[in-house]
Amino acid sequence: MKFLIKIMLLFYVCIQTAWAAQIVLDAGHGGRDPGAVQTLNGKRYMEKDIALDITKHTQRELVAQGYDVAMTRTKDTYESLDKRRAQNIFQCEKLALSIHADAHTNPHAKGGTVLYHPSASHSRTAAEVFRNAIQSKRVARSQKVRVLRNGNPECASVLVEVGFMSNPDDLKQLANPQHRRVLGKKLASAAAQYVGAPRKSSKKAAKPAKAAPAKTSNTAAKATASSRETAPVAKATKAVLTPQNVKVANTKVAQNQKDVKDVKAVKAVKDVKKDVKDVKSKNVVKTEDKSIKKSVKVS
Ligand SMILES: [Zn+2]
Repeated sequence: MKFLIKIMLLFYVCIQTAWAAQIVLDAGHGGRDPGAVQTLNGKRYMEKDIALDITKHTQRELVAQGYDVAMTRTKDTYESLDKRRAQNIFQCEKLALSIHADAHTNPHAKGGTVLYHPSASHSRTAAEVFRNAIQSKRVARSQKVRVLRNGNPECASVLVEVGFMSNPDDLKQLANPQHRRVLGKKLASAAAQYVGAPRKSSKKAAKPAKAAPAKTSNTAAKATASSRETAPVAKATKAVLTPQNVKVANTKVAQNQKDVKDVKAVKAVKDVKKDVKDVKSKNVVKTEDKSIKKSVKVS
């Protein structure tokens, strides 16, 4: 029974390792759940759209840096809490970040808030990193981070409220695509700072090599190869030209010739010995033949 439990645990760990992304990004709400809705200059803004746009910027930035990122949604779709939780259990290795925008009955409430769920041991540390990144005055432990509950204990769970949609100043900023892009980048750099090195090499760095035309990359490869090849050759030529090295080289050649001679001499001695042995054995056979013949004659 214990053996069976061990096998099941091993299987679970293998699946989690294979599926886990370093970072899971969760854009709040979506589809039939718009989250907070506010109007500015006659235009309606929905939290689900603002959250998704910022999350996409964060994702692009992290992927460009080589991080392995999973998203709970990439479009305006409604994902159940159960599905989001399941994704956190199976996909999150280091950090689960949920991105939202706040709303309050008090229109003066403004600025970002960072919440973390107590179930993940490193969440508080991660929350502090995000608080610094968005210069938030508030960081709090909260059961409100429902979506991230039951996550992998090693995966820090943080929810960032990027500002209050109920505050005219905050909403004006959140309505600005450029501000959302900057926020996305800030969240990405905070995530990178917390997570540490990406699991794979930077795609940004790898892309130009892949995307570059074959001719250019070949030329570049050739240039690198030729520079690698020419360096030792130049060294060798220079070395041969110095009198001291010529002397060393001559000594080596003489030694090699002597070695060859020695090998030849040993081989020659061996050959002679072999010949002598062969002759002797032939004589023995002849002698035996003669004795057989003699014995036949006698009989
Ligand atoms: Zn929300």
